[in-house]
Amino acid sequence: SPAEAPLALPQAGQDGLILLRRIGSVDPESLDDYRTHGGYTALRRAFAIGPAEVIREVTESGLVGRGGAAFPTGRKWQATAARPEQPHHVVCNADESEPGTFKDRVLMEGDPYALVEAMTVAGFAVGAHRGYLYLRGEYPLALRRLEHAVAQARARGLLSDDVLGQGYAFDIEIRRGAGAYICGEETALFNSIEGYRGEPRSKPPFPVEKGLFGKPTAENNVETLVNVLPILTLGAAAYTAIGTEKSTGPKLFCVSGSVARPGVYELPFGATLGELLALAGRPDNLRAVLLGGAAGGFVRPDELDIPLTFEGTREAGTTLGSGVVLAFDDTVPLPRVLLRIAEFFRDESCGQCVPCRVGTVRQEEALHRILGRTGADAADDIALLRDVGRAMRDASICGLGQTAWNAVESAIDRLGAYE
Ligand code: NAD
Ligand code: SF4
Repeated sequence: SPAEAPLALPQAGQDGLILLRRIGSVDPESLDDYRTHGGYTALRRAFAIGPAEVIREVTESGLVGRGGAAFPTGRKWQATAARPEQPHHVVCNADESEPGTFKDRVLMEGDPYALVEAMTVAGFAVGAHRGYLYLRGEYPLALRRLEHAVAQARARGLLSDDVLGQGYAFDIEIRRGAGAYICGEETALFNSIEGYRGEPRSKPPFPVEKGLFGKPTAENNVETLVNVLPILTLGAAAYTAIGTEKSTGPKLFCVSGSVARPGVYELPFGATLGELLALAGRPDNLRAVLLGGAAGGFVRPDELDIPLTFEGTREAGTTLGSGVVLAFDDTVPLPRVLLRIAEFFRDESCGQCVPCRVGTVRQEEALHRILGRTGADAADDIALLRDVGRAMRDASICGLGQTAWNAVESAIDRLGAYE
């Protein structure tokens, strides 16, 4: 099935990779091989320096969340660790579902023990003894590999009441999603684990205070967690030397669409969009690039000098999100793409709040009406789209509704769609 097909790794075997370095060379079903490739060095260092120092190191590394929102990981861990309520939890958000995103899948399929180790480090740092890994339901190979890794780690005492003989107890429970995009929103994900409908909760309170089962929870994306291992093995100072001052470390990018070599690429933050597209084989007739996925925005071929950093994309009026780079050449009918994005949000809206439930339907209807129309013929519906988009952005409960109009807006304003 397509979900079982191996994903392309155009940089496989290349020197200098950090997050992808083991993928393709380590046996993902062998704990011994993982150890031979440097596995469990980070956890040993964590035990040697203690939880407070782990959090200090992660904070000093400048690591921010790689799920898309770029919240400082050290701050999240510190806030969770400091809460008096018990027990604390760690949750790995592996419900990767942003259209065009497939980096976490590569990490989980190719290097599953790294995630098991990284979750153990996170649990140790925030004082949790149980970790939940919420995995996208459509990732059967990742599920098999992770289940195997967890079972092997248990059999070897690396998930036990006494991990590495350090008196620290930790175990991981894997939960599978059932195909709802909204369950990747952290509070909808907690509801799903708890057995309720996958609907987002209002924030605040943030999960660090009241998360899974109402307890302090550090919730992190797969790529974020995997970054903690090189932070501990290289040290925060060496880690911050990678990337830029405000976006530190390496970053995975998911490049797809009209390129010669689609796949997951690892680059230090700060490379430009043009450099990444050159690696992936940019087409001569490039028309647009969707950055950050369906919740992101389009940029033009004359904007490829945008630096791939959180601050650089923000300054350019767009977003890096989870690292989606979807290229479209001029043979792709953009209005159809916009319609597909609108259908996606209408389908995936959980329906809990009116601006998003109704707005995503109105957006799709307006895009249907203006399909194939341009200029004055499209003006009324474009005005309606702007009104609906503003209402969704301002009044929706969660990120889905707040960003459901981003791609359409950028296509109108930056690409001149419908002119
Ligand atoms: P958010 O900005 O509300 O929160 C980001 C993280 O920071 C959360 O974990 C939140 O709990 C925490 N946080 C924020 N303020 C805090 C505070 N004051 N104290 C403690 N913790 C705090 O964003 P979000 O709604 O969680 O995520 C939106 C992002 O998700 C978007 O950028 C989008 O790109 C991304 N996304 C990714 C995927 C994917 O498949 N990777 C899918 C959908 C959306
Ligand atoms: Fe549900 Fe949309 Fe409201 Fe989010 S914004 S809670 S997805 S209806």
